[in-house]
Amino acid sequence: MAEAAGAATPIAFSGAPLDRADNLRADPDALAARMDWKARLLLLDGLMPSLDDGGQLAWGTLADAPQDAELVFLGLDRSQGGEKACFASVPPQGDSRPRIANPQLWSLMTSLAPDQLALYGGARSLVDWHARHRFCARCGGATKLVKGGWQRHCDGCGADHFPRTDPVTIMLVEHEDRLLLGRQPRFPPKMYSALAGFVEPGETIEEAVAREIHEEAGVRVRDVRYIASQPWPFPSQLMIGCTSVADDPEITIDKTELEDARWFTRAELEEARAAGEHGTELLYFPRPFAIAHRLVTWWLDT
Ligand SMILES: [Zn+2]
Repeated sequence: MAEAAGAATPIAFSGAPLDRADNLRADPDALAARMDWKARLLLLDGLMPSLDDGGQLAWGTLADAPQDAELVFLGLDRSQGGEKACFASVPPQGDSRPRIANPQLWSLMTSLAPDQLALYGGARSLVDWHARHRFCARCGGATKLVKGGWQRHCDGCGADHFPRTDPVTIMLVEHEDRLLLGRQPRFPPKMYSALAGFVEPGETIEEAVAREIHEEAGVRVRDVRYIASQPWPFPSQLMIGCTSVADDPEITIDKTELEDARWFTRAELEEARAAGEHGTELLYFPRPFAIAHRLVTWWLDT
């Protein structure tokens, strides 16, 4: 479905060029045999990537990892013939404010090649999770990295813990050839985007879409459909892009969530898209690395 969603470029943070090689994760001896001089280590400074002279991800060998650092197995790179096992080391600290992506990250999203950005995003999310989950949520004991970093195990109580991916719905609402978009107080002026919210326990994606739109904008929707998804590694969301239809356009904004929400006509959105990064007097079109960009583009082009 993502391929039909209207743009030639891949969805940001998707398309990592690695074979995740699940069979190796489950076989400690086979994995250990890959941790030789040929193995590559993704060079990170904390959670930020180190870059080579070409501005792309820099790699070293496992000898570059700090002594006693935990290593996660990212997968096998077969891109240049041969086969190289790729690893990353868990930093001492995770991201304490993961929802605020820093300016350096925004710039990386435009400078890294799409497959490199995807590889970095997946690695960042995984090592950040390890750095923030060194202790067991059940008994409080220390946990250890197992399965090449795709699991942690507690020897104290036997519990296994798995890297998180948190589902978030992000959705278009259509009414008579207009789209509902909203803005949070922290957005730059004129920036509007698709409404979004975490899926809660006991909900389907469709129910989460309908609940979030009603909570934030007071609008009831029907006919929720899936369009495309995007991994978002700050720290570990899966953005699930949907579309829906409203019968009644009256908006009641929840001011604790949104500063504003309004309906935009097709012409207003077309004009904003054509205006590019400078936007129109009314609106900035969502930025290309955001799945909202893909969703609104899909709606305009279908
Ligand atoms: Zn435990």
